[in-house]
Amino acid sequence: MAIKSEKDISGQLVEIVTNKFFTSDFISGIAGDIPLSDEDKKTYNNLLDEIGDDLYVKILFYITHQLFLKADSKKLWEEILLHKYYLSKKLDRNIEITVATLDYLTNIKCKIENPKLIGEAFIGRMAELSSSDGLTRLYNRAFLLIKIKEELNRYKRYKTTFSLAILDIDDFKNVNDRYGHQKGDDVLRKLGAVFNSSRRDLDTCARYGGEEFAILLPHTNRNAAGTISERLRKKVEDCFQNDIKITISLGVSNCPESSTDLEDIIKKADKALYASKKGGKNMTTLG
Ligand code: GH3
Ligand code: MG
Ligand code: MG
Repeated sequence: MAIKSEKDISGQLVEIVTNKFFTSDFISGIAGDIPLSDEDKKTYNNLLDEIGDDLYVKILFYITHQLFLKADSKKLWEEILLHKYYLSKKLDRNIEITVATLDYLTNIKCKIENPKLIGEAFIGRMAELSSSDGLTRLYNRAFLLIKIKEELNRYKRYKTTFSLAILDIDDFKNVNDRYGHQKGDDVLRKLGAVFNSSRRDLDTCARYGGEEFAILLPHTNRNAAGTISERLRKKVEDCFQNDIKITISLGVSNCPESSTDLEDIIKKADKALYASKKGGKNMTTLG
């Protein structure tokens, strides 16, 4: 049975866009339409190790834009491959995987009512929309969580460190109260731009909540994360010198020093942020 909840679908889109290798070539390669490069073979095996049968949910979603239950997906995928084999044999030419999938699910299984072909560029755009925050143009919390999970997986395999900084605007309520909500929104937008222009290529900047942000810093130990956070804190002060006065407080956690557990890493950064607030605001605390 297909699941169609919007939340599930946007989650899948977010995941697909974070997995840059999820392209039509990759899926055609797995299905045997084109040769699978050595790199893709490795990716395929790694994915099977990491997410198991969820891989088939993603493949089917990529082709049909519909979510199928994990318990059904592997079997469906195998049936589709068989169907593709028989169709190709009957028609004496290769029937590529997209066609075979849609034919099987529409005509044989009656699992798709109104199949629509959607191009890769459209999926990319949809995925971008469901992974970003409309006001600041930064990534949203859902996307950030996926990226933290990726970093945790990398840590578990290769023991690579990473840090997480959570940032909160100081006395932002006063800004809204004194200058209005519109000005408050302008500040959020401007901060988004400051964070984005300060980040390194690998870093992920996200709007974590209302006036809270987070920056994921791959390959960054605790001390380096502290230095980066302090640099950012000062940059925010500078950028708002000729505007209304805005400062931020930061809390930093590190994997593995603070924790190696997703929720705990976030909790530790939050706790450190709270300590920065308690300590007088406009400061960084390492958790
Ligand atoms: P602190 O220094 O302790 O963080 O104080 P604060 O005033 O920043 O924190 P508080 O949690 O009391 O208030 C947060 C404010 O952020 C209240 C809320 O209206 C505002 N806010 C949250 N999201 C938005 C938004 O999207 N736009 C605007 N303009 N304001 C927002
Ligand atoms: Mg807050
Ligand atoms: Mg605040």
